[in-house]
Amino acid sequence: MNETLSELAERLGPDNVLRDDRIPAAFRRDLLTSVRGLAVPAEGWTPAAVVSPGSTEEVAEVLRAVGSAGGRVVCRGGGTGIMGSAAPPDGWVVLDLSRLDAIDIDATSRRARVGAGARIAAVEAKADDKGLVLGHDPWTFEIATVGGAVATDGLGYLGARYGSLGDRVIGVTAVLADGTVVTKRPAVKASVGFDLSAWVIGTEGTLAVATELVLDLRERPEARRLRGYSFATLEAAFTATCRIAEVDPALLELSVSSPGAGSIWPFADELVDRPTLFVGVDGVIDVVKGQLEAIRQRAAEHGAEILPGAAVEAFWRDRHAVVERYRKDDDGMTEAERRAGDVAFDFVHAAIPRDAVVPFHGEARRILERRRVTMIELGVWVAPELVSIVFAKRADRAAIAAATDELIRLVHGLDGSMEYCHGVGRRLAHLLDDEHGDALAAYVRVKRALDPRGVLPSLGEWV
Ligand SMILES: Cc1cc2nc3c(=O)[nH]c(=O)nc-3n(C[C@H](O)[C@H](O)[C@H](O)COP(=O)(O)OP(=O)(O)OC[C@H]3O[C@@H](n4cnc5c(N)ncnc54)[C@H](O)[C@@H]3O)c2cc1C
Repeated sequence: MNETLSELAERLGPDNVLRDDRIPAAFRRDLLTSVRGLAVPAEGWTPAAVVSPGSTEEVAEVLRAVGSAGGRVVCRGGGTGIMGSAAPPDGWVVLDLSRLDAIDIDATSRRARVGAGARIAAVEAKADDKGLVLGHDPWTFEIATVGGAVATDGLGYLGARYGSLGDRVIGVTAVLADGTVVTKRPAVKASVGFDLSAWVIGTEGTLAVATELVLDLRERPEARRLRGYSFATLEAAFTATCRIAEVDPALLELSVSSPGAGSIWPFADELVDRPTLFVGVDGVIDVVKGQLEAIRQRAAEHGAEILPGAAVEAFWRDRHAVVERYRKDDDGMTEAERRAGDVAFDFVHAAIPRDAVVPFHGEARRILERRRVTMIELGVWVAPELVSIVFAKRADRAAIAAATDELIRLVHGLDGSMEYCHGVGRRLAHLLDDEHGDALAAYVRVKRALDPRGVLPSLGEWV
């Protein structure tokens, strides 16, 4: 492997193959940390090298060379993933895709042809210059890359109208583990059968490395309006949320904080006094006006109080601020880890049938109380079916890990899916069998056919 890496350094340039103490601390892990109940070494792992190719051909060359030397490769975009799937196991090569950051917007066809390492924020800025919008607005907007967001099939604040990033992919160039370059021509609707984009959307870099994506853009909305409401009870707030979802908003976010959460939660400034719903609409101005009126009526039917404009503006202005807490300092540590101190916490982001949401909240509360874990909040994001529960406990990571597993098994019992936007990675790998059943064996067959040497990781490999 040493010889292979030296040859790659000659081909790609010494600054594009970093080894030993030239490897920046941030590349030793992603943003999965041990506060979430899994043993993650604070300093991360020790990759053999961080290799940064500058073209699809160079990606192919790296995969061929490392694969032939018996090495293994993990893809990395912005490193903001929170499941550990961009973290390198010891001795693996980190394939840093950040140099593949070209962005070409074609206003006529309304398409963006982008390198996998392009940052979401940069694509959005260039689309805006041409009067277009991508509409993918995750909390990590400034740092996450298109490749990472496609590989986790990420969702953003505007997902109710603009879908997940995977929904916006119409063309792909990818490299298979043996270095074969494959392309799916860009078309908003493909012909029958086999679709290469399925190999890169939501597969966490296990089947192929995306190097270039063609994304479907939309017209910049004539108007975007936000409203905020508070409700007396979770039931009223959730019923209103379901009715408002029928109005086709762009943004939907319901938060319900638990009594007493502030006593343990290191980020108590995020908690709300009453169930709080933010709704956003955007698009053609006359349509937006009609939507706003329908939303007002539906909220009022469930006893909503209107939040002041300043609160709504602050929600929108500060929606990405939390990510600052996750920027790594020179020691590879984040402010979130330092603030959490001995508080361990985790969250379950599940997709469940909408009629199960309120009962799920009650059952989750009972499970957490039995385990003496504090429920911090329930969230509903993008669609009534997409639910999150955040919970915390002081100085007891094992209790957090056990609570996560029990809540996810509850989700599976409801015919739900355990994650809707972050991927599975190391954090949830042990629950893949429970999630997929027999389908997991079919994935393994596809994986073996595409990557017989196992150059790229497998889903669940870290169990
Ligand atoms: C505070 C915080 C808030 C977050 N909020 C959101 C949110 O609102 N919505 C959301 O969806 N996510 C969110 N995330 C999770 C994370 O930001 C997203 O998953 C993001 O899209 C990952 O992009 P990345 O470029 O950082 O990918 P990375 O973390 O670098 O990688 C993620 C996965 O993609 C794979 N990968 C990366 N590039 C490629 C490629 N070119 N080809 C194949 N595989 C590749 C990696 O191997 C890894 O499995 C949040 C994370 C944090 C820390």
